[in-house]
Amino acid sequence: MNIIGRNTFAVVNIEKYLKNLEFLNSCTTAKIMPVLKADAYGHGMQELGKAALKSGYDMFAVAFLEEALELLSSGILSKVLIFNYFDPKDLKSVLDYSDYLRPTITSIDFLEKACGILGKDIKKLVFHINVDTGMNRIGIREEELSTLIRLIKKHNINVEGIYSHFATADEKDEFVKIQYDKFLNILNYIINEGIDIKIRHLANSAGLLFFPQSSLDYVRPGVATFGMQPSNIIKVEELKPVMELKSTVAKINMVKSGESIGYGRTFTTLKSMKTAIVPIGYADGYFRNLSNKAYVLINGKKCRILGNISMDQMVVDITEVNTNVGDEVVLIGEQDGVSITCEELAQKAGTINYEITSKLTRRVPRIYIRGGN
Ligand SMILES: *Cc1c(COP(=O)(O)O)cnc(C)c1O
Repeated sequence: MNIIGRNTFAVVNIEKYLKNLEFLNSCTTAKIMPVLKADAYGHGMQELGKAALKSGYDMFAVAFLEEALELLSSGILSKVLIFNYFDPKDLKSVLDYSDYLRPTITSIDFLEKACGILGKDIKKLVFHINVDTGMNRIGIREEELSTLIRLIKKHNINVEGIYSHFATADEKDEFVKIQYDKFLNILNYIINEGIDIKIRHLANSAGLLFFPQSSLDYVRPGVATFGMQPSNIIKVEELKPVMELKSTVAKINMVKSGESIGYGRTFTTLKSMKTAIVPIGYADGYFRNLSNKAYVLINGKKCRILGNISMDQMVVDITEVNTNVGDEVVLIGEQDGVSITCEELAQKAGTINYEITSKLTRRVPRIYIRGGN
């Protein structure tokens, strides 16, 4: 049974996702490893993963083991790189899917514990090494490389890939080049130690678009695949937003001059106003700090949010808009040629576009479409 309910949903356009992937593909000589962590930044990792797999992408990346297992159990049987830390005790479940799962050696401690727990079975696993070239987060540090190599040789660890991650590829910054050079030096060092590595990868979305020299064997774009801009400085016109966020007009009020709207009375009318109540709030992941700042689209017009956004609803100004209960409200996306982007909302909310889509909660159903707008 399909319940329409409050008529509030995120429309995810699979065709646009595939077109973005194609465009990114055309920008680099490397192979694309689509990043699907955090439920594909809120877009839905299973549906987008299936579409990308069908289109021939043969390796995906997620942050955590749980996410990799979700991909596999949804039938996406392909290589999945796990970027981040997990308890080495869980390596036993990685062993069950060793054809597909590619855990990362994120620290010396992780590798030592892994060897202790798996014993000889460690040889059945295929690892990627994350080397720290300047993020100072997870990853093997330069001074730990000799220990790493000793452990790899001692336990016959099967290393398929090596990678690092850029801190500033979205800015016009010298640091990208410093990290790139450092990565190549580390790579040389490891190869000279006789360790055979097939796959080298470094670039995220911004790296592959703005520093394509850094494309090696694979690139790992996330944000750009969803049509969001990887940089505040350079706009890439070819990227088409994959997600739209829509709701509906639930009620129309005529508010007299001098009345307040919502919790905390942060907005008071200076004249009589017509308002629309929209059944979406911060518990859906729409940022509460957009109260009194952001707009929604109704009938092709920008309507300002009035007062504090509530958990389940918001109030918008429709004084100048012709509309009825049941009409479409666009919170992210396009209506009659007018658009509201995640970048715009992120800027108003004091955050980045990544956070706008990945914070949309489960309460917002994702509707998958192909083609159209
Ligand atoms: C998230 C992530 C990416 C993707 O980054 P985007 O900026 O979204 O393209 C690539 N590599 C690693 C290691 C990541 O954690």
